[in-house]
Amino acid sequence: MSCVLEVKSLNAGYDEIQILWDVSIKTCSGLCTIIGSNGAGKTTLLRAITGIIPTINGSIIFDGKDITKLPAHKRAQIGVIMVPEGRLLFGEMSVLENLQMGAYLKRAKNKYKQNLDFVFSLFPKLSERINQKAQSLSGGEQQMVAIARGLMADPKILIFDEPSLGLSPKLTIEVFSIIKSLKEKGIAMLLVEQNVHLSLSITNNAYVLSEGKIVLSGSGGDLLENPQVKTAFLGL
Ligand code: ATP
Repeated sequence: MSCVLEVKSLNAGYDEIQILWDVSIKTCSGLCTIIGSNGAGKTTLLRAITGIIPTINGSIIFDGKDITKLPAHKRAQIGVIMVPEGRLLFGEMSVLENLQMGAYLKRAKNKYKQNLDFVFSLFPKLSERINQKAQSLSGGEQQMVAIARGLMADPKILIFDEPSLGLSPKLTIEVFSIIKSLKEKGIAMLLVEQNVHLSLSITNNAYVLSEGKIVLSGSGGDLLENPQVKTAFLGL
């Protein structure tokens, strides 16, 4: 199967501190999830993939092209789009303006109307609140805007950093059902999540990152049944 994203033997970190050690992952069609405890290096891995930090060595192949040395904005131009941790909306701007900011890339501008219709079909509540300032939305609604803004960028892969962070259990379930429906629509996604049970339940494949190394991998179902995962992450 051809894969949208392939990270091969990646070493990366910050200045003198190496955080990721020989990390290899693949995201093919559907959803790929990275789990791991606090400080394992999950966000660092996403930063290396999106080009926010440089790599020491190893390679990142996206859509058949080696993007290891490509700057972050060029990766975004070709469809590597991140929904950041903490949402990072433009609080003073309206919902619609936030969505328009997502569509600033040329490819996305050309598909603006089509993508806007798509996000409003996915989040009907947002279409009723297009003029409301983002900062006045509830936490759950803000997360929806952050996901919608990512979709407005017309991603070839949508990357999520802990989308359930700070959300109530009910809203967390809502966010996961959105991710599941995006998966069913064939959008490739890479997800970093602390909510191990929910993320493994909907993912195609998953990896466990520990102290910067991949220590386990498999289908979501396999990892849910794995004794180490059960003990370390599921409290079983
Ligand atoms: P969490 O689930 O707590 O967000 P994580 O798995 O995403 O954790 P990272 O944020 O990638 O982990 O952090 C991995 C390691 O890198 C940690 O030891 C952290 O202190 C270190 N680190 C993160 N950002 C920087 C930075 N800008 N400069 C130096 N070290 C950093």
